[in-house]
Amino acid sequence: MARYRGPRYRGPLAAATSLTLAVGVLTAVSPAIAATSTAAATSTAASCTAGAHTLAPPGSRLYPETGNGGYTSLHTDVHLVYDATTNRFLPGNHVTLTDRATQCLTSFSLDFERRSVNTTAGPDMTVTSVQVNGRPASFTFAQPTYPGDPHGQNDPDPLAHQASEVNPVGGPHHNPLPPACTPELTSTKPATKESGNGTPCPANKLVITPAAPLRGGRTFRVTVAYTGRPGVHNDGDGTTEGWFRSNQPKGDGGFVTTEPVGTEDWMPLNDYPSAKPTYDFYDTVNAGKTVLANGILEGTRTHPADARFPRGSVTWHWHSAAPVASYLVEDSVGSFDLTERTVSGMPFYQAQASSLSAAQKSKNLAIMDKQPDITRFESMFSGPFPFTSDGVVVGRPSASFEEEMQTMITFAGGTIDTDTLYHENMHQWWGDHVTEAGYTMTFYKEGLATLAEFLFAARKAQGKAGGPGTAAGRRAFQNSLVATFASFYASKDGFWTVAPSNPTAWGLFSGSSTYDRPGIAYIALRQILGHPNFTRALEQLQREYGGGSITEPQLEAGFARWLPTRSAACRQRLGQFFTEWFDTAYPRGGGTARPQLTGPGLAGPGFYGGGCTR
Ligand SMILES: [Zn+2]
Repeated sequence: MARYRGPRYRGPLAAATSLTLAVGVLTAVSPAIAATSTAAATSTAASCTAGAHTLAPPGSRLYPETGNGGYTSLHTDVHLVYDATTNRFLPGNHVTLTDRATQCLTSFSLDFERRSVNTTAGPDMTVTSVQVNGRPASFTFAQPTYPGDPHGQNDPDPLAHQASEVNPVGGPHHNPLPPACTPELTSTKPATKESGNGTPCPANKLVITPAAPLRGGRTFRVTVAYTGRPGVHNDGDGTTEGWFRSNQPKGDGGFVTTEPVGTEDWMPLNDYPSAKPTYDFYDTVNAGKTVLANGILEGTRTHPADARFPRGSVTWHWHSAAPVASYLVEDSVGSFDLTERTVSGMPFYQAQASSLSAAQKSKNLAIMDKQPDITRFESMFSGPFPFTSDGVVVGRPSASFEEEMQTMITFAGGTIDTDTLYHENMHQWWGDHVTEAGYTMTFYKEGLATLAEFLFAARKAQGKAGGPGTAAGRRAFQNSLVATFASFYASKDGFWTVAPSNPTAWGLFSGSSTYDRPGIAYIALRQILGHPNFTRALEQLQREYGGGSITEPQLEAGFARWLPTRSAACRQRLGQFFTEWFDTAYPRGGGTARPQLTGPGLAGPGFYGGGCTR
């Protein structure tokens, strides 16, 4: 996402206008998921155990409560039944998750925040039934336990289930254990940063016990039916994310923008970035409302009035054949102007809140129209665009951030800007197609999205100097990147004090360690590898990890392969470069209190040396 930029305030309510998109008849698409598995099912009930209630590594202080083990997430069918007037999920609302057990499971869990401390904008939902493979299953809600607890996830010690920004928890009980969850802060004021430390974690683990154990290797389907009001999650930095009520005009719908963990505030799921099922959305909403989700719009089907929708309803079907990470699931509902442009054979969806003024819409549209060109430009660095569609939605609620929802980028507050579109569109390769394996890797994809902003600035300089086909233009492009690097590299004060790979939830989406520091590290890396090799490294990472996720050692090895000189000394030097740029917290100030290794021609002592020659 683009960095948090503080609350934004909406302008006066604009006159509503609307256009309608003509779409075809809904056709059923069945997910290509085998109902059974041929994997050997040798485990007996005696060796069956509960799946892990987290995917976070032991000692984690970043959302240690999220993710669930013992199975792999394959596909999700979303069947929202949503009344935009009241902002409620109605009876019939459910999701069906298709998973594959990786062990014999007596029980397994999902993430679902059905209620929160935020009683106005937070969720207030009720699970009405759970079925596994079509049979009723029992369920309960449990508090998370800190990852790696030797006493197990039902540890009776209350200290094993407390929130904190840091490890150990500390707090009023001087809790020496690691945190079990990230605090849900209700304010962005710095004085409140540690206020949640030592508080009990909410019981947001939906633990499901099927009628009989699920054998390892088997594919199973879990259906969760629920009703009530979706809402936003109070995050560890005091901001909110999730399902934002859209009330312009009153009763308009909901706007979904969820990074990092807010999807569980409207849908139960395996809420961890590396859990990436494919999706079908079959959302039934009030007649006249539009649903916007990931992938391709397959069709709509209208229904006559019934008890739930006295003025009729419409089911929208969106299909994503590409896997979608937990925080990139888009599913907004409201009055939107939706159009589809096909450029070079690929659909680009363009959606704007219908209530925006005609002047604002045309201003926004001029920027949205740049998306095909931006995609083409970014593919020169990252390789072919990884998905079969792309798109933008401009919503009204002031969510304080924009987000790279897969193939449907969200802009909040009714406006869009070009620089941020370069950023979010670059995420389609970095974050969306190749997802970070965990939250500590957020810097990896935010750094590359920030690099896209730097490349946009260089492109503008190139254009002014004569264009990409001229020597002067190419020189201006390179000079712009060098100037960007030099300007940030001269930063003092707190710019270098947080290691990008060791952030806190408090600063995850606002600090230089997530955005500018890794962003200029990639400029330096481009100088070290040489420009063509840098692009080849990015293209190869797309091919190798696309559709899945990547760890920091995998990322670094992916660049090391493209060193122009692959000697032991150069590989060791590149390892040192990554340690300095990604993994080291420096004291306040510049000078030697910052990474020393830079690429050739940039301001540091340089990369080649110490036995590594070009
Ligand atoms: Zn971003």
